[in-house]
Amino acid sequence: MTANLTASARRLRIGLIANRGHQDAADSALVQLLRGAQAALHTLQPELIVVGRTLDAIISHGLLEYCPAHERFPYGREGGLMKLVSRVVDSDPARSVDAVIYLIDPVDPSSIFPEALALKRQCVIHGKPFLSTLAAAREWLELEAYARQAPVDISLNSSFEFAHEGIALIAHDAMKNRMLALAEKHFALLDQFAHRYATGTTGGLLNQLAQKIKGQEAGRDWVKPFLSGPLGGDAQIAELVLDKQIRRILFLEDPHVARQHEADIQLLERAARTVTGYSTVISDADGSDRWLSLLAQRAAHPRS
Ligand code: PGA
Repeated sequence: MTANLTASARRLRIGLIANRGHQDAADSALVQLLRGAQAALHTLQPELIVVGRTLDAIISHGLLEYCPAHERFPYGREGGLMKLVSRVVDSDPARSVDAVIYLIDPVDPSSIFPEALALKRQCVIHGKPFLSTLAAAREWLELEAYARQAPVDISLNSSFEFAHEGIALIAHDAMKNRMLALAEKHFALLDQFAHRYATGTTGGLLNQLAQKIKGQEAGRDWVKPFLSGPLGGDAQIAELVLDKQIRRILFLEDPHVARQHEADIQLLERAARTVTGYSTVISDADGSDRWLSLLAQRAAHPRS
């Protein structure tokens, strides 16, 4: 294992919140997360900062034992989510969170309140994972536990068989060089996927890179480019997400500019949240390098 993938000494601090639709049922996303990731949580022993009603739901399901170290944040209507945004940007290691798990129900209006949008945006800006689907949270916890030498959760093995998987690669203009650098560094991993998809311009650049690496002919159609993002490419990719053809979306977005196609960007994220148990969106460029490295290792060496 390379040095940059080993764990830091400090225990992880993770913000945790679930929309109502993901809290109460016996098989809700919140319950599936805590039960499913039980072994990873045991390895990581994270400190969880849990927003009010989500903590109430955890207690009523009898699952508090899975998150022994926790801090209660206020209910959403009392500003719990707003306080979490402040912790994402805080530079004080005693207060800041390292990642946010926010199980979003796409039809819950509170998921598009300003604080919910700011939470994600500040995670992207500050290079912290923002995990808004059950699948993303499960995978991230699994990979972080794996990085700490834990045995793998074999129930997730099929999702690491990349020869049967599709991945989408999208980068806004300011992030296209980062995408190319990531794709070059992790080319062997990305090459294992059955299908790679991209928005138009990103796809063209990635196919040029693939031609450089694999040769003119073999690299020509390495990625299938859809329309450019502003012309609807995000929506085309969203359809494949909804049809469970694309499980993972690496979306390097530029949070510092106004985006004329903001609605399309949100649409794609909402598609992933619609199939919450299936799809993963990774948006922060810093974290995506670690994510891709750990994906490759987890797939190649499923330590039992
Ligand atoms: P593009 O689309 O790859 O065609 O540039 C991405 C975007 O800007 O949304």
